[in-house]
Amino acid sequence: MSIYTQLGVRTIINAADSYTILGGSLLPPEVVKAMEEASRHFVYLDHLHDEVGKRMAQLTRNEAAMVTNGAAAGLAISVVACITGDDRDKITEFPALNGMKSEVIVHRCQRNNWEHVIGYLGVQLVEIGDEDSTMLRQLEEAITEQTACIVYFTSQSFDAHAIPLQDVISIGKKHNIPVIVDAAAQLPPVHNLWTYTGMGADLVIFSGGKTLRGPQSSGLVVGKSELIRACRLNSNPNMSVGRPMKVGKEEMVGLLTAIDRYVHLDHEAQEKRYIQIAKYFCEENKKLGFDTEFVDSGPTGQSYPRAAIYLKATDGKSAEQIVESLKNGNPSIWTRLTENKQGFYINPLHLQDEEIRIVQRQIENLLFGPTNR
Ligand SMILES: *Cc1c(COP(=O)(O)O)cnc(C)c1O
Repeated sequence: MSIYTQLGVRTIINAADSYTILGGSLLPPEVVKAMEEASRHFVYLDHLHDEVGKRMAQLTRNEAAMVTNGAAAGLAISVVACITGDDRDKITEFPALNGMKSEVIVHRCQRNNWEHVIGYLGVQLVEIGDEDSTMLRQLEEAITEQTACIVYFTSQSFDAHAIPLQDVISIGKKHNIPVIVDAAAQLPPVHNLWTYTGMGADLVIFSGGKTLRGPQSSGLVVGKSELIRACRLNSNPNMSVGRPMKVGKEEMVGLLTAIDRYVHLDHEAQEKRYIQIAKYFCEENKKLGFDTEFVDSGPTGQSYPRAAIYLKATDGKSAEQIVESLKNGNPSIWTRLTENKQGFYINPLHLQDEEIRIVQRQIENLLFGPTNR
């Protein structure tokens, strides 16, 4: 019996996305194997951090890299690193901010739940711009002696209203203020692992438990050596604000293995597979009389396709009802409502081959009743 059966916890088919509430992503066998091997021996954790960091930096074409306890922890640690640097006294004193810079600049139009992570640190968020636009001048005016860093969230949904990242980086350099990019979900394309740092961003953060398919509780921070060093000093195993955001030896080795796998993947073949799956859902549901749409990007602009299936008023059920019924069905299938709530997306990113037909059959059963198909 599987562990989940023993526990009485049902497993879920994920046609939605990399959601933390569903467990992030699934670990490839080579990642599990590496973690299992790592679990059999003691090591000096700082030494492992060093060596894993070096290899991750090489693989992602960056100066330096480190594993954190998720991207959210990576964001917290990165901000603290910009405040304390490698000053041991400041690291020990934090979150008391005596004599330390305490302001973090963010875009109003990029406000999202992840800013709470910065708020927890007791620093002040300084907003620039409004929902619809942000001007370079507003960034320049927001910079004071107290500015510790600028945090930038990359996502297609914000792009039109924010200052372009390249300009933010130029201003940051001019004033000697580091720019942190939260790119937690911005894979694929794989080159994002080095594109933002290549543009001059100081620290860039990725989730380990999303498309990288590392441990759910892992995150990757890449960037300037000096700042990664400050991140390390603010992290486990050092007594610091990062100590409760512990990363174990298994997660370190697991994330490194996942990154190694990811950068060497046949991304073209992978994309082809995603396209095939998304097209399959579009075609099958079109045959059933629904409007379908092949959407060529992920929810925040990532380069993977999705199928959108729209219900008509005459179908008798709302898209919301379908999404709920799929969740509550057997097997339980998670999809995502479209932004206009008229339909739902099916995302190939985490679908196993054998699950594809199951998902389609379930949709048909829900809409037309069980058949002997
Ligand atoms: C998912 C996400 C995070 C958090 O990532 P974890 O690895 O789950 O901590 C942070 N920021 C953004 C923009 C995200 O999409």
